[in-house]
Amino acid sequence: MAGPPVQPEINIGTLGHVDNGKSTLVEALTGVWTAKHSEELRRGITIRIGYADGYFYKCASHRGVTAFCAKQTCPNCGSETKLLRGVSFIDCPGHHSLMVTMLAGAALMDGALFVVAADAKFPQAQDREHLLAAEMAGIQKLIIVQNKIDVVDRQRAIENMGEIQEFVKDRPAEKSPIIPVSAQHGVNVDLLIEAIEKEIPTPKRNPSASPQMYVLRSFDINKPGTKVEQLRGGVLGGSIVQGAFRRDDTIEIRPGLRIESGGKTSYQPIFTRVQSVHVSQGDVEEAGPGGLVGVGTQLCPSVTKADSLVGSIVGKEGGLPPVLDKVTLDVELFERAVGTEELVAVEKIRTNEPLVLNVATAVTSGVVTSARENIIDVSLKRPVCANASFKAALSRRIGDSWRLIGYGIFK
Ligand code: GDP
Ligand code: MG
Repeated sequence: MAGPPVQPEINIGTLGHVDNGKSTLVEALTGVWTAKHSEELRRGITIRIGYADGYFYKCASHRGVTAFCAKQTCPNCGSETKLLRGVSFIDCPGHHSLMVTMLAGAALMDGALFVVAADAKFPQAQDREHLLAAEMAGIQKLIIVQNKIDVVDRQRAIENMGEIQEFVKDRPAEKSPIIPVSAQHGVNVDLLIEAIEKEIPTPKRNPSASPQMYVLRSFDINKPGTKVEQLRGGVLGGSIVQGAFRRDDTIEIRPGLRIESGGKTSYQPIFTRVQSVHVSQGDVEEAGPGGLVGVGTQLCPSVTKADSLVGSIVGKEGGLPPVLDKVTLDVELFERAVGTEELVAVEKIRTNEPLVLNVATAVTSGVVTSARENIIDVSLKRPVCANASFKAALSRRIGDSWRLIGYGIFK
């Protein structure tokens, strides 16, 4: 669906158990199928985080919910509609083995659609996990989407509604509306668009805040065999979480470049200049928060190739948080390890135990060097760029998977 030439102004994520219909819902809202990689298509599940931009419109010719649509001409009366805004949907995997990927996506969401399948008993394992991850990431604007209403009768739809209400009781999501839809048959898409417009407004941005972009991808965009003088510089892809980046800005990337020397690995910040700024509608002079942004740099493409800079943060020179290879965290543990069918109780973190940490879009592992009451020190394998405004999601090895057990606030 071709949209108007404006950058989407907000990122809205999808959450919920695998197969609940997250990718189908994003397609119903935007016309874009986010699974593009052959591996994803083959396995039928979302593996990498995908973005799909949608544009919402309102028709002036009639009142109520049928006035909302995703088209420039009203599907009900054919009149020209008015653009409300551009929204970028971040489609995350629901499969438990891809939880670390989902957590990276959660760091970029301003709001979320929590997709439930009406025909399955709620909650399923990753429903629980995703809801906790959303709470942890501070995603406050949430809509619960009750999908697949086409395959259940009225009785089951009401029963499922009850399961949802029971589960979100006394949690932040208690106030979220529950919108019944069929993503596959396009039922109640107008109702959902109306709810998104009302419940998930675009956050107030501070355009003069020091810019920060979380890197989710990095590429070498040159075709093999390109002549040296025609080579294009390395490209970084991700979302801007505050401020704006412009062409010719001098930028810093942290932790940056991995250096192997004398059997030791270290990281060095990278300084470069912005050569181009790309949003899904094309090249722009400047980009801010909302959607996937590509920043073309003067870096040698070998520095950015094959996602080598994923998890780094881009900012203005000197404007980024410090790079830490030892961190002290104030820990909040969940009662139960989420995602486990048997809901294993979470025991205290112990000295010498290995943990996986998600910080913004970075994933790293570490070993606990000291565990006191609620405070732990962790020595990281790969450093992170973070300060006291960041949180680390903590996962512990249970059985053969890493399970989310809580989070830590940087001290
Ligand atoms: P995801 O894993 O949450 O992204 O789920 P998908 O969007 O890949 O959908 C999983 C399966 O459910 C697919 O076979 C879809 O065709 C099907 N599905 C999605 N939405 C609906 C719906 O509204 N009704 C029915 N009957 N099936 C649906
Ligand atoms: Mg999917």
